[in-house]
Amino acid sequence: MQQAIDLIKSSNNILILTHKDPDGDAVGSVLGLAQALKDMGKKAACFSKDAVPKVFEFLPEFSIIKDKIIPARYDLIILLDCALFSRTGLGDISEIAPFFDNLLIIDHHPEKETECDKRENCIFIIDQKASSTAVLVYDLLKKMNVNIAKNIANCFLTGIFTDTGGFQHSNTDSRSLAAAAELMKKGSRVDKIAKNIFSGKSVPAIRLWGMALNRIETNPQTNMAVSYISKKDIADLGAKEEDLAGLVNVINTISDAKFSLLLTEGENNKIKGSLRSEEYKGIDVSRIARSLGGGGHKLASGFELEGDLENNVAKINKMILKARE
Ligand code: 5GP
Ligand code: MN
Repeated sequence: MQQAIDLIKSSNNILILTHKDPDGDAVGSVLGLAQALKDMGKKAACFSKDAVPKVFEFLPEFSIIKDKIIPARYDLIILLDCALFSRTGLGDISEIAPFFDNLLIIDHHPEKETECDKRENCIFIIDQKASSTAVLVYDLLKKMNVNIAKNIANCFLTGIFTDTGGFQHSNTDSRSLAAAAELMKKGSRVDKIAKNIFSGKSVPAIRLWGMALNRIETNPQTNMAVSYISKKDIADLGAKEEDLAGLVNVINTISDAKFSLLLTEGENNKIKGSLRSEEYKGIDVSRIARSLGGGGHKLASGFELEGDLENNVAKINKMILKARE
């Protein structure tokens, strides 16, 4: 922790990166940290391979997250909500940001390997017990006595709120609630965040949820509730892929399935899988995700595979069956 503080204090030109398909925790942590660093008089560039989902456009300065890295010499790269450069979807970092002095990883995923295993100029704050990366970044800034303005509080509270599923998942702990209370004291409003995240849905988005809910099947062999959405479904309804955020949590409310899976056919011949379970169901879905080349948390994880849905659903089922053995 102290090393991380010293590193941030001594760095002036900082690049912040996060994982592809950024979620509320990724976006909130990046924006909150970037604005705090700017308030400290530092330069902070932010990058995400995939666009920030529209649902987070209510966050202050969301447009500072760019999809191209400015080639420059960075004192420090901070990797948030993931522990490997490969999760950024960038490919080889030495080609994109070849000149940086130090790397700091702040994450809460249970990764077996991190970028620090590969390089010396790297330190990490990885706390698997933390509900979110946002709470880790917020606590770090607090230790640095950084002033947390209302706009920054909004970002961190959004990260904590989304990664705890609106304070409903089993990772909701006293640390997150204490941080949330402090962030509300800075002027952030959890009701407004909830409204921005859960309301404001379009008719095509709700119809897309309806289509996926209608297609749910439970598989007695794997004890899984599964549904899928193809590229064509999304286009036919005039919806967007990001409209599916949160849907897998609804599928996961089925009590007689041990875990749930939503398969989404994305652009570029990719299938994204989102896995969820509940503490009482006694399943570690990250094991299943890892066996399909992905990763994540025990109760919320994901993977990505090449191919289209039509030709791969049976194969994915087989792989899951094998992982459940
Ligand atoms: P979601 O289903 O919401 O996209 O992701 C759930 C969790 O799994 C998040 O913590 C996310 O970072 C992680 N995750 C999703 N897809 C992947 C993947 O392809 N690889 C890894 N390592 N983690 C993933
Ligand atoms: Mn997270």
